[in-house]
Amino acid sequence: MKKYDYIIAGLGAAGLSLAYFMLQSEQLKEKKVLLVDRDRKDKNDRTWTFWGDVPGEFAHLVEKTWYKIGLHDKYEDVIVNAERTPYHFIPAIRFYNYVIPKLKKSDNFTFLSGNIERISDLNGEAVITIDSQLYSADYIFNSAFHGVSTMAQAQKKVAFQQFKGWEVSFNREILEADEVTLMDFSISEKGKVNFMYLLPVSENRLILNCTAFGSEMIENGFAEKCMADYLAKYFPHDYSIIRKEQGFIPMSHIEFRRNYSSRIMNLGILGGDARPSTGYTFINAINNSRKIAAGLAESGNPPKILNNKRHFNFYDRIFIRVLKDNPEALKKALLLMFKKNSSSKAFDFLSASTSVIQEIPIILSLPIIPFLKAFINEQKNSRR
Ligand SMILES: Cc1cc2nc3c(=O)[nH]c(=O)nc-3n(C[C@H](O)[C@H](O)[C@H](O)COP(=O)(O)OP(=O)(O)OC[C@H]3O[C@@H](n4cnc5c(N)ncnc54)[C@H](O)[C@@H]3O)c2cc1C
Repeated sequence: MKKYDYIIAGLGAAGLSLAYFMLQSEQLKEKKVLLVDRDRKDKNDRTWTFWGDVPGEFAHLVEKTWYKIGLHDKYEDVIVNAERTPYHFIPAIRFYNYVIPKLKKSDNFTFLSGNIERISDLNGEAVITIDSQLYSADYIFNSAFHGVSTMAQAQKKVAFQQFKGWEVSFNREILEADEVTLMDFSISEKGKVNFMYLLPVSENRLILNCTAFGSEMIENGFAEKCMADYLAKYFPHDYSIIRKEQGFIPMSHIEFRRNYSSRIMNLGILGGDARPSTGYTFINAINNSRKIAAGLAESGNPPKILNNKRHFNFYDRIFIRVLKDNPEALKKALLLMFKKNSSSKAFDFLSASTSVIQEIPIILSLPIIPFLKAFINEQKNSRR
């Protein structure tokens, strides 16, 4: 069985950023690291967007930043100024093309393409099975293999965010590219929280996603029809679809197990980096990978990473309960949150970085009755 110091299982945002931070560390420069993924990571397989500060190491990868954010429904348009918390976009391929060649240049990082079949902790040694071959390490950092996470239960039991998207190119410059549309509920069906998400990357390039929150899968063909109708209505010009993407993110308050065992640590979505109520993960994954590399450099062991402050877990439960019990109220609440509060306050709240005092006006701006009912029901549930 081949032995490494560390194995990084899964080379997405979390795994690659951890490897990148290890590469930057003087103290870790002798460590032998195995990097494994079943994909080659040579495609632009996703769109990473986030608000606020850009991690310095990756700032040059940002393709576009918006300072105006829109939320819409059939009856109103909420346009907010986001100068203090701008909204950024990094195409995943830029990140892969920046990080992977750097790692490949180092003799300490070995890339392996294969399917991870099992990860286990055997007598104090972390062992991974990749295409029937065993490899071991002092520590395995896993963002790939669902078998060692609560993701599988989370997907079954609670709710999820699902989206299908197109990147389209128009033959003329027809877009106003200075405003991102976070949510357009004008496409929403009654009793469902579904919306269109629009990133005008330039005057003739648009990424649009048909997104749904809930526990029902988007029906086959619905997203495609919805996007085609939306384009025909709002951008009636010839276009070609240059890329498609889709995603599925658990919206679960089930606690993800960051430390699966003393030798196996979960990263990224599997480590609990996705905020259950929004699905945004990228920045948390990068920041936590930075902390893990720093901890390894300092003490030789992975540090303890704390997930959300506890009361945010409770807010997430309430959010998910309102999503299930009263989807119409949730749509209204998302609009009101940005209408009645500054975008920086709303975004800080959604990033779980506000204090209880700062949260009071935000909570008071939401529709009281459905949230109060959800609060009471969740209180009862947590006592059971
Ligand atoms: C289309 C799309 C758009 C998104 N947009 C945003 C966004 O705008 N903002 C945001 O914050 N988040 C977004 N997300 C969520 C996104 O998943 C995270 O931001 C980020 O990619 C999570 O990083 P991760 O490392 O946990 O997972 P990933 O980046 O998904 O990495 C996991 C890796 O594990 C590999 N893998 C899985 N199973 C196996 C196996 N059995 N064997 C070998 N390899 C395996 C996969 O190939 C993958 O490379 C989006 C997701 C998708 C799919």
